[in-house]
Amino acid sequence: MLVLMLVPGKTAHADWFDPLKIHFLDVGQADCILVEAPNGQTMLIDGGDEHDAEEIITYLKREGITHLDIVVASHPHHDHIGSLDDVIRAFPVSVLYMPNLPYDTKYYHDLFRVINEKQIPVDRAKAGVHFKMGFSVKVEMLAPKGSYYKHINDYSAVIKIQHGKKNFLLMADAGAEEEKEIMSRGGVKADVIKIGHHGANTGSSMEFLKKVKAKTAVISVGKNNPYQFPSKEVLYRLNNRKMTVYRTDQLGAIIATSNGKKIMFRTNVLH
Ligand SMILES: [Zn+2]
Repeated sequence: MLVLMLVPGKTAHADWFDPLKIHFLDVGQADCILVEAPNGQTMLIDGGDEHDAEEIITYLKREGITHLDIVVASHPHHDHIGSLDDVIRAFPVSVLYMPNLPYDTKYYHDLFRVINEKQIPVDRAKAGVHFKMGFSVKVEMLAPKGSYYKHINDYSAVIKIQHGKKNFLLMADAGAEEEKEIMSRGGVKADVIKIGHHGANTGSSMEFLKKVKAKTAVISVGKNNPYQFPSKEVLYRLNNRKMTVYRTDQLGAIIATSNGKKIMFRTNVLH
């Protein structure tokens, strides 16, 4: 027997179970994350390194993306904004978030040229910024909170995405200083963590991993990269916590799909 539960005024809750998709693109030794909310809204976090534009744009078009509602430049290093200028030239963008850190590089100036050409509104990425993507997806920036950090990586916009009972923590290139700041703020518990700084031993401390309690780690990292990321130390800690690790250098793009209760992973690798 089919029972339809129709509670007046509560029907919108069905939205909780429509899928949220988070794509960790394979852009080699760089970062690029696409978030597709159930209501059709999209968010792009970072845009790969200098020569990744074509691959990112092709990927987004294949996903049927016609508009980027939110773009985040997590911090101004080339492996995060290197192709972001070309990507935002290819799609209409409603708003772009970035930390308050003017940076005198070609990549930064290229990005601002397109922002100015297209008159894209720019907001500051900082702790406390929050918004919803439709009814069921809550986005909150946990960092940066301060206005000065020793390491550029610690200016990274750290983003928590909540979908029903499931949480994703996207660390960009955050290191130990930013992790400490986030821990003091609280609310770091997540099911999936995108490991900071491509798995470098500059962060992902045991103390932090214990607070986050994630069972799954995603590492965006290039094959045979010269930095030997991810570091042995970080892999040891993830293993010690019995976490499942998905790496873009081994699996290609990694796609997490949440229904608010469960998260499924699939990859580009054909077995
Ligand atoms: Zn990076």
